[in-house]
Amino acid sequence: MDQTGCPHIVGTKVYSHIRKNKIAFTRFRVSSHDLLIEKGRHFNINRADRLCIYCHMNVFENEYHFLLVCPFYNNLRKLYFKPYFCHWPNKQKLITLMTSTNKITLLNVSKYIYYAFLIRSSNTL
Ligand SMILES: [Zn+2]
Repeated sequence: MDQTGCPHIVGTKVYSHIRKNKIAFTRFRVSSHDLLIEKGRHFNINRADRLCIYCHMNVFENEYHFLLVCPFYNNLRKLYFKPYFCHWPNKQKLITLMTSTNKITLLNVSKYIYYAFLIRSSNTL
């Protein structure tokens, strides 16, 4: 129950968060996101210039870098991913995360994507 004592409102808030996370996950899956690897295609930015501006690794800002590598999101990654996915990232781990059928894993990946994009948008450099 919330402050008004109405469980329906709490349920709506929870549903709203789940919905936002699902939308973020779906947008990520279909490449409808703001990472430079995609955004650069739409704005005709040279592929070599689509580097991550949130870290100093000098690599493409693609889905793999965003989800498993970029140190800018380390705290978030540790919060939502098992340590296995945080250490020695590789493409197979990305595939494992994105194709998981485990509801908790999918929920955590969704939350990570949602909050990482939120942090990212509030830290425009
Ligand atoms: Zn980065």
